[in-house]
Amino acid sequence: MKRVLVLLPTTGYRNNDFLAAAKKLGVEIVAAANYCHQLAPSWGLAPIMALHFDRPEQAADTVLREIDGNPDAVLAVDDSGVELAALLAERLGLPGNPAHAVRRVRDKLAFRRLLEEWEFQCPGFHHLPSGDDPGKLVPELKFPAVVKARRLSGSRGVIRADDSQALVRAVNWVRAIQSRADRDAQELGLIIEDFIPGREHALEGTLQQGELTTLALFDKPDPLDGPYFEETIYVTPSRLPEALQDRIHQEVARACRLAGLVTGPVHAEVRINDQGVWILEVAARSIGGLCGRVLTHSLGMSLEELILRQAVAEPLAVAGEGGAAGVMMIPIPRRGIYHALKGLADAQSVPGVTGVSITAEPGQIIAPPPDGASYLGFIFARAENPAEAESALRIAHRRLHFDIRPEYAAMAAPAAERP
Ligand code: ADP
Repeated sequence: MKRVLVLLPTTGYRNNDFLAAAKKLGVEIVAAANYCHQLAPSWGLAPIMALHFDRPEQAADTVLREIDGNPDAVLAVDDSGVELAALLAERLGLPGNPAHAVRRVRDKLAFRRLLEEWEFQCPGFHHLPSGDDPGKLVPELKFPAVVKARRLSGSRGVIRADDSQALVRAVNWVRAIQSRADRDAQELGLIIEDFIPGREHALEGTLQQGELTTLALFDKPDPLDGPYFEETIYVTPSRLPEALQDRIHQEVARACRLAGLVTGPVHAEVRINDQGVWILEVAARSIGGLCGRVLTHSLGMSLEELILRQAVAEPLAVAGEGGAAGVMMIPIPRRGIYHALKGLADAQSVPGVTGVSITAEPGQIIAPPPDGASYLGFIFARAENPAEAESALRIAHRRLHFDIRPEYAAMAAPAAERP
């Protein structure tokens, strides 16, 4: 029986999907979680090693000391564990991406430097060290600009600024977000780059011995123009011309090669405009949230099963059904406490909708980007063509009514405004 060390994030959407795939494949799981084991929910996995994924060197030492026999592979369920997974694979002599390559693509500043070095189309960018006055950069900036935290994901800590005043506000806000979310915030500082107009697409792929296979290219039909960049709809197959789809594949494959990524899942975000393909991001992980479920029909297996099979070198025969599919990450309309939902059955009954998963828990504090990086849930659709899949998602979304209440009583609307 193959053994896989799986790095489970604290609040992972997909922990259960990976564990289910392991069960199906008869793979033994050795679990390590990104938190104190005393807080662990009952996953039925014991013992769970408790590690700090954001201290990869130290966490790797702990694993090597505590693990009972070597695993056949190390897998990170999401972005938080990819650096540690790469480091462990290196130390254990298992197949994996070089840790330095994963580190480089995770850091938005280091990745921009890589793109610039290899003459990809790359927005102009600047590093803003912690404590530096953003006003000093203004003469060199082109507005609109995008202020970003260095290593966060899910559009957390990403804000467009249209002028120098908005820049100062955005820098203060992103600094606050990064200092809460990244313990290296002080050393990292921020990145400020030119805003690239255009339509956005996401490529979901997998690398084997350095060769990229595109599993799906998604269109994002809602414009992402900011000032905050909350994701909504992904639809596949893409409606872009074939030649452009090929070009995106080639550019992402080249970026992976030059970054030194060689194996496992890849998720890339690109923008297209009349100047061509702009790579915003290449990540050595699979698509976030529950979105991967949108691919089950086209892969003929869950994305988690595919990743796990690849990790333990099980034969892969990707053969699913055709047709179009889409997913909506249900956006959080405003910050507050999620209380209740109406209209779920109505949304589920929309023709083409194959599922609605509400992942927010009643009582949970929720916030849209740039503060938050989660969603109320996910709507899935399948249809004959992408336009129908997109339309089913929009209709279902309109039928969902979320009751979100203010976090503090003082923030409630004045009595006169209440119905
Ligand atoms: P994350 O890893 O959090 O997704 P990204 O760097 O991919 O961070 O940025 C999140 C989103 O912000 C992108 O998907 C895109 O919509 C928008 N964005 C980021 N950088 C730019 C840019 N230079 N120009 C235009 N939009 C951008």
